[in-house]
Amino acid sequence: MRQAEQRKREILTLFLARDLLTIITLILALFITYKLWNTARETESQTQYTSFYFRVRESNNAIQQRLAIYEQVLHATKGLFHANKTVTRNQFRAFVEALALPQNYPGIQGIGFALLIPPSGLEQHVKAVRAEGFPNYTVWPAKERDVYTSIIFLEPFTGKNLRAFGYDMYSNPIRREAMQQAFVTGQAAVTGKVKLVQEAGGEVQSGFLMYLPVYNEAALQKPDARRQDSVVGWVYAPFRMKDFMHGINSAQAEDLDIAIYDGNDVSPERLMFESEPKRGSTGVERIDRIDLGNRTWTVVTTATPAFVQRIASGQPRLILHAGISISLMVALLIWLFLDDRARALHAAHQAMQLALYDALTGLPNRKLLDERLAVALSHAKRSHSRAALLFIDLDKFKPVNDNFGHAYGDLLLKEVAKRLRENMRESDTASRLGGDEFVVLLLDVESPQDVMLVATKILQHINDPYEIAGHTFNISASIGAALYPDHGSDSKTLMKSADMAMYQAKDKGRANVQLAPLE
Ligand code: GH3
Ligand code: MG
Repeated sequence: MRQAEQRKREILTLFLARDLLTIITLILALFITYKLWNTARETESQTQYTSFYFRVRESNNAIQQRLAIYEQVLHATKGLFHANKTVTRNQFRAFVEALALPQNYPGIQGIGFALLIPPSGLEQHVKAVRAEGFPNYTVWPAKERDVYTSIIFLEPFTGKNLRAFGYDMYSNPIRREAMQQAFVTGQAAVTGKVKLVQEAGGEVQSGFLMYLPVYNEAALQKPDARRQDSVVGWVYAPFRMKDFMHGINSAQAEDLDIAIYDGNDVSPERLMFESEPKRGSTGVERIDRIDLGNRTWTVVTTATPAFVQRIASGQPRLILHAGISISLMVALLIWLFLDDRARALHAAHQAMQLALYDALTGLPNRKLLDERLAVALSHAKRSHSRAALLFIDLDKFKPVNDNFGHAYGDLLLKEVAKRLRENMRESDTASRLGGDEFVVLLLDVESPQDVMLVATKILQHINDPYEIAGHTFNISASIGAALYPDHGSDSKTLMKSADMAMYQAKDKGRANVQLAPLE
């Protein structure tokens, strides 16, 4: 009985282990998958960032290079003023035409020259230009100032550029700052974000200007000459930001969204340029600063979703899918393997049950009883103790079958078995031999009187009425008792003695216990 319980527990444990191990394996495998996936993702985003970074560098270098080229154009133009004592409008036009700006320097709006005019010379200057064939020429805005400047040349002298003619850029603080910077340092200088005077109606763009100072070289050569006193004017170039970026950005347009801010801050009012349309945030972004000499531009570059997707390896997704599949497969294999083992053990156990236990009542059968009896007797022999057998046969059981059917008989037998089992000590064995015959093996009994007491108690339990499927049954039993060594020194004799005592009980009118006669 105990062995069977233990076996059952083992099998249950195995079933539990099957489920537990499966779950643990699954969790572990999924965890490893997660880790691998994460690592792959990190590697991928690093790779993505590296190629993004190269693109951004390319783009920013292109901006810087373009600015350097435009600066060179201004230097060349300055050369025109050095080579000629006075530069005429026609000379200037011929020079700029030769540069072929639209073809060679896309993004540049034009090249101009702003002349510095002392207040005393203003009237004379206006007169002179009007005489050139521009009767409406004036230096504007018309407010009185300490210093005047005027855009006298701006090529190509057509379209929007005509609007700038005569404009005093020095009157505007943003432009003045760059113009001063230029003549103080002798270097090229760019303005902050401005709206060009050319802009009117239509699409207004942000812009900026680049200035290079032109000095009176002879005056500059004098020993105590100051740069600011020798300024003649500025060659300059106005830029519309979108046009400026157009040529540079086209190679990157698909991959990068670019925003350029004047200065070091990223703030809406400093925004000079933004590639359009913004194609959604990918989180892959860089902020770089471009040094313009006298100014800084802040460039915010974002990788477009298309770019991020194109440089994605797809490896993390592959790892995720494969990892989940493998995890499930391994878990399933483990489950199947352990399930198979548990089931095999369960089946073996059941086969053993069939061989040693009664199928109807679950009590040990004749075979197991014989085994236990043999063990009990050898133990009793060694320890000079007593063991006893109770042979139990139900009284008038047959009529139950006859009157109610075999099924009721079975239920009654099961109920009797249950009562026997419940009233047994752990060390004792209640078994069913077959039919309505049961045998109880009692270990370590003191005396025949003891055995009779136990037998009488068992009889009382059997005698109690049975409620089975709505019917009340009253049944009794005849019990024969035999003790080792008193009534037999071996299994066979002892069984026989108990059997005979049982028949005696039947003879005596049933529903009683009889002790075997001494040998
Ligand atoms: P007695 O008092 O002399 O013992 O009369 P009885 O009717 O109990 O007759 P007996 O013990 O000789 O016969 C037992 C009967 O039990 C015989 C058979 O019909 C019935 N029987 C044997 N095995 C089973 C079984 O597994 N299930 C059921 N329902 N009945 C069984
Ligand atoms: Mg009977």
